[in-house]
Amino acid sequence: MSVPVDVERDFDLARLTTVRVGGRADMFARAGSVDRLVELLAYAEREGAAVGVVGSGSNLLVSDDGFRGLVLKLDGDLARIERDGDRLLCGAGVRLPSAAAKSANWGLTGLEFGVNIPGTVGGAVRMNANAYGGELARTLDWVDVCTASGCGRRTPEELGFSYRHSNLRDGEVVARAQFSLEQSDPETVKSTLAGMRSKRREAQPSGIKTFGSTFKNPDDPRAEGRSSGQLLDAAGCRGLRVGGASFSDKHANFVDNGGSATTADILALMAEGRRRVHELTGVVLEPEVQVLGEVEWPADWDLGGEG
Ligand SMILES: Cc1cc2nc3c(=O)[nH]c(=O)nc-3n(C[C@H](O)[C@H](O)[C@H](O)COP(=O)(O)OP(=O)(O)OC[C@H]3O[C@@H](n4cnc5c(N)ncnc54)[C@H](O)[C@@H]3O)c2cc1C
Repeated sequence: MSVPVDVERDFDLARLTTVRVGGRADMFARAGSVDRLVELLAYAEREGAAVGVVGSGSNLLVSDDGFRGLVLKLDGDLARIERDGDRLLCGAGVRLPSAAAKSANWGLTGLEFGVNIPGTVGGAVRMNANAYGGELARTLDWVDVCTASGCGRRTPEELGFSYRHSNLRDGEVVARAQFSLEQSDPETVKSTLAGMRSKRREAQPSGIKTFGSTFKNPDDPRAEGRSSGQLLDAAGCRGLRVGGASFSDKHANFVDNGGSATTADILALMAEGRRRVHELTGVVLEPEVQVLGEVEWPADWDLGGEG
């Protein structure tokens, strides 16, 4: 069976993530077109290889043992933005801050929420990313989703969006998305973006190796309306360290890789934070960060079925 061109072996995945930890993929390839993407997915299916997709790696924790299978990253045509009147056609590899900035330059409003989300359009659809009340689904017209057998179009209603969740399964790759925006004054949109950037700088750490929110905000009355960050803070986790990883001094729901962290350090830190919050409040925090590859959660991750 022929191997598609430019499939790399034993590829270091840590550098594809913002937290910069994790091992190597057996196989790695870039897809710059829908045809190439389907070719790679079909190859993985024929070989019985698992498929992983990396966007900006901004909510991704790669196993220290890496990934046994084929990891894909979108580039070329699948990382381009085109404008058609009030519509924006984005390759799923386009970064949301770029889409937000380009829209502002064109005087289009609707994608401002993406300015502070350092992920790609594909990752945002998979994660149903959101910030400051901006709803991805509000402006999204459709996405093209590719599998080993081809591509199909889905509307937001068909993506099963809920809090940080879509119904996309492993092996289903978002290749393109179209957004319907509205005309506005470029200077107004740009000043909204500037305001959002400065609000974010005040609230969250910058310049650290992190994957953004570690845990989802809980939907549990015992949280008494507090976010995961506030609960971790109350449980004394701000600055808590395990090996080379700590919860940020500025925002307790952000893991900070001081430089030497491993994924095992981060999992142990997450388990300790979760244990402390559970002990203090009874709330069971669930990870927002997505794991790529097989990991072993520390023994104390399981809180004995309580919650
Ligand atoms: C500093 C910082 C701030 C952040 N702020 C926010 C915020 O305000 N709001 C928010 O919602 N998130 C935030 N995040 C988290 C993150 O940016 C989002 O979850 C983002 O949507 C992830 O996109 P990504 O391209 O980086 O995906 P990755 O982290 O690479 O992957 C995440 C998941 O999406 C899947 N995926 C990626 N691309 C595709 C594709 N094309 N098709 C199918 N599946 C795909 C991956 O396989 C994985 O399961 C923040 C992260 C950081 C580091």
